[in-house]
Amino acid sequence: MAVIIDGKKLAQQIREDLKIKCEELKQKGIKPRLAVIMVGDDKASQVYVRNKSKACDEIGIEFEEHLLDGDIQQKTLIELIEKLNQDDSIHGILLQSPIPRHLDINEAFRTIAPEKDVDGFNPVNVGKLSLNQDTFVSCTPYGVMKMFEAYNISLAGKNVTVIGRSNIVGKPLIQCCLNKDATVTVCHSKTKDLKQHTQNADIVIAAIGKSKFITADMIKLGAVVIDVGINRGEDGKLTGDVDFDNVYEKASYITPVPGGVGPMTIAMLMNNVIKACEN
Ligand code: NDP
Repeated sequence: MAVIIDGKKLAQQIREDLKIKCEELKQKGIKPRLAVIMVGDDKASQVYVRNKSKACDEIGIEFEEHLLDGDIQQKTLIELIEKLNQDDSIHGILLQSPIPRHLDINEAFRTIAPEKDVDGFNPVNVGKLSLNQDTFVSCTPYGVMKMFEAYNISLAGKNVTVIGRSNIVGKPLIQCCLNKDATVTVCHSKTKDLKQHTQNADIVIAAIGKSKFITADMIKLGAVVIDVGINRGEDGKLTGDVDFDNVYEKASYITPVPGGVGPMTIAMLMNNVIKACEN
């Protein structure tokens, strides 16, 4: 039976520490401030933004929300980002994705000043991560790395299999694990014989978006299993990409869904805002 990695508790500890750092900044006359841009009225995004706003409140970070209509032109979005870049009272800028398809999200990410890019999506910060330089690491991968650290799970020399290669989760995770000296295998929808790659892994990280896709037979006895997936069933219940009940019996460590990687993502966003402010 595995040790359950308690992301909720760990995230809470991180938030408590950030609260103290935030207070120290305020005593020096600096008020950490995050600007969030949302385009359109995606329901899931509204929930995410609300959660980010609550986390900011709890820590003492000022939060401002910029709601743009779904039919705006690219120019409007870019001009807003440029204005926020210039505003010295703002330390972090976040563009909530997805944004409507007619807009170019890559140009938007590129426009966010690297020093305010608390999501770590600007190519400058992505490049720095790949060069193993100090940067803003995208929040979900960063949260996963913090979990390893908190549970003393060393990555050096380990076989890590990451399933998923998205720009926001899979790819930065690959880089983070490589920077910690792991031997990294990356799998995706075109991978042949996925099971061979997961069975060989000391650490499996699933970032796929398919409920209970990783089953016990795919996992080596004693492996560490990190479940990034968040899937909402027809009954409204959240499940991960890992068949938790069965994999739990075989793994040495496992993250639950909910209460695993999810809470860590927001905690690391808050961490990046404070870091941007300290910088
Ligand atoms: P994407 O849809 O962008 O990426 C999914 C990845 O999974 C792709 O690389 C895809 O391969 C791969 N994949 C799909 N099907 C298979 C398959 N059958 N076998 C192997 N690989 C497969 O998703 P995200 O990276 O944005 O998110 C992944 C999951 O993590 C989602 O459930 C999302 O909700 C969750 N998430 C959770 C967060 C948290 O805070 N916990 C934050 C962000 C995301 P290909 O590239 O070939 O298409």
